[in-house]
Amino acid sequence: MRNVIIIGSGCAGNTAAIYAARANLKPLVVIGHEPGGQLSITTLVENFPGFPEGIEGPELVENMKKQAEVFGAEYVHGTVEETDLSKRPFRLKIDGEWHETMTLIIASGASARWLGLPSEQKLIGRGVSSCATCDGAFYRERKVMVIGGGDSAMEEANFLTRFASEVTLVHRREQFRASKIMLDRARGNPKIKFLPSTVVEEVHDLAKNEVTGVRLRNLESGKVWDQEVEGFFVAIGHIPNTKPFKGQIDLDHDGYIVSHGGARTNIKGVFHAGDVQDRAYRQAITAAGAGCMAAIEAERFLEAEGH
Ligand SMILES: Cc1cc2nc3c(=O)[nH]c(=O)nc-3n(C[C@H](O)[C@H](O)[C@H](O)COP(=O)(O)OP(=O)(O)OC[C@H]3O[C@@H](n4cnc5c(N)ncnc54)[C@H](O)[C@@H]3O)c2cc1C
Repeated sequence: MRNVIIIGSGCAGNTAAIYAARANLKPLVVIGHEPGGQLSITTLVENFPGFPEGIEGPELVENMKKQAEVFGAEYVHGTVEETDLSKRPFRLKIDGEWHETMTLIIASGASARWLGLPSEQKLIGRGVSSCATCDGAFYRERKVMVIGGGDSAMEEANFLTRFASEVTLVHRREQFRASKIMLDRARGNPKIKFLPSTVVEEVHDLAKNEVTGVRLRNLESGKVWDQEVEGFFVAIGHIPNTKPFKGQIDLDHDGYIVSHGGARTNIKGVFHAGDVQDRAYRQAITAAGAGCMAAIEAERFLEAEGH
């Protein structure tokens, strides 16, 4: 029986582990399919406080893990497949084996949706990104492309015009899903060029291990051509990793955990941290802050029960 199990080894899970371990709760962290979370697939992180020169994403999350281990956090490889949160102790099935815990911190993140092209996947962190706030500043006076037709694509495109010399917005349909106000703002921005009814067939250049351009196809005319860009931003949404909690805790229509204030879910003793609940900020520092909140709440919850 554990005091606290933390699901996820990204910024939120690792920070929760540091706080829970320092509170002597001996947390168990379930690493999941992506050890270190989303930062493990990026390169330089320039906006995490405390690193004036920036720090490589994998190094940052590895440091957090080491820091948690110093205080006694235990990490286990595996994925939570199923949960029973109907009564306490809560039960979690990790790689086929059931574990029990008095409190639970869910820090399982939200994975970016990608186009799924092999070249795109190989160039993530090398010009391919899912986060303009994170990576936009690397593209000063460069040409970039944004993929998507919803509000987040418009927001990313508008944001990127602060840095980029030109932003091409590619969408596979003629009509955009984005709200009128967001679409109008993007249309009114002279740096944004629209390419509707167009799909990306390939991201170049795998041989150079960086983005140099893309191959595009217009779905109406069939025309295929190459376009030079250095940044390729995919803004087609995120999928919160909440499958094992479906039907157990309150999720919104997109599957994000619904917060009941602070780090609380609708179930007493189950707390949320990071991108799994946060559709607004999605940053390493906000996820880390949320991990801190969840661990403090778990600690207070256990203390109130006399543990
Ligand atoms: C390419 C890229 C670059 C980025 N760059 C920056 C940047 O420069 N600055 C910045 O502030 N932010 C950046 N971000 C955003 C930042 O990475 C996220 O906001 C942050 O990682 C969220 O942390 P998290 O712990 O909530 O979730 P995640 O990092 O997504 O971690 C989720 C964890 O949960 C685990 N997990 C999921 N499901 C299960 C399960 N069923 N069982 C067990 N474990 C599970 C995963 O294995 C993973 O370890 C970037 C994101 C991407 C994709």
